[in-house]
Amino acid sequence: MIFINYATNLDRFAVKFWGVRGSHPTPGPQTVRFGGNTACVEVRLGERTLILDAGTGLIPLGRELVRRARRDGKPLDLVILLSHLHHDHTQGIPFFAPAYLPNARLRIYGPGTSAEGLSRVLEANQSQPTFPVGLHEMAAVKEFRSLRETDVLVLEGEQARLAGPDEAVGEETVRVRIHRSYAHPGGVYAYRLEWRGRSLVYATDTEGYVGVDRRLAAFSAGADLLIHDAQYSEAHYRGQVPGWPATQGYGHSTVEMACDLAAAAGVDRLVLFHHDPAYDDAAVAAAEAQARARFPRALAAFEGLELEVDGRGRGRLLLVPRGEAAASPLLTKGK
Ligand SMILES: [Zn+2]
Ligand SMILES: [Zn+2]
Repeated sequence: MIFINYATNLDRFAVKFWGVRGSHPTPGPQTVRFGGNTACVEVRLGERTLILDAGTGLIPLGRELVRRARRDGKPLDLVILLSHLHHDHTQGIPFFAPAYLPNARLRIYGPGTSAEGLSRVLEANQSQPTFPVGLHEMAAVKEFRSLRETDVLVLEGEQARLAGPDEAVGEETVRVRIHRSYAHPGGVYAYRLEWRGRSLVYATDTEGYVGVDRRLAAFSAGADLLIHDAQYSEAHYRGQVPGWPATQGYGHSTVEMACDLAAAAGVDRLVLFHHDPAYDDAAVAAAEAQARARFPRALAAFEGLELEVDGRGRGRLLLVPRGEAAASPLLTKGK
């Protein structure tokens, strides 16, 4: 067993999945194993916390962050990176407990032509008469920033700023690169996080291409961990499942597309993400099995999954709360 003391391990690069479902939440007995909340991934880099997308998984994460802030006696300082502004990636914000704390700081970054444009879209999501509290009435100090594909975001100490693409940064600096994909309605950003020689790529809501998405493969090259859209089975995508329409062109990938991208990019570990809301636990488990036959270090994201990005070839699983997943030797140690 690996024991990690979170309170003192300032070198940790830990990833926790709070929402793994695409499109809309799917509570119920058929989704207990993998979970029903929409997209939200927490990344802890030393003492920093970054959040990738703000689907309904953001709601339980918010409660946990408030608990941690109380325990540590420290105000929250959070960066939220939005891949795009579809509901399943933003609908947790009105219920995000830290947003109601006057001493919390939220930096909400995402696509858009201006910071005002980004905040206007989010404001519209929670305006009267659809929600009682407006975005700007929430007490936390909020900063909005629209990012462009050419931007490189760096986090240094308490600062977040844009850097030149080849600007040298210190080892303690977190560097975030952006890839704009057109393979999703309205476009979507993939993010590459780099810190202390380790890297994670988050590429949700993107459809693969014949012969793999070469730009995304180059962007993801050599990453320790790739989190990739894998919404559909191949048969579903092709319209070969009776009663289900083909989903080609919807802007989401098959399990095979995710695996082929992972192989082309030479990543160490692949996490299948954004499960179709119509897929029950058995369907997601079947997708995971298919993926492993093609890319052995693949696993399907589930709520509560934690991974430590511990350098190439040493990606470790920290916590598997569900018995069946824990039984897999794939998950318990590096190759
Ligand atoms: Zn989505
Ligand atoms: Zn989307």
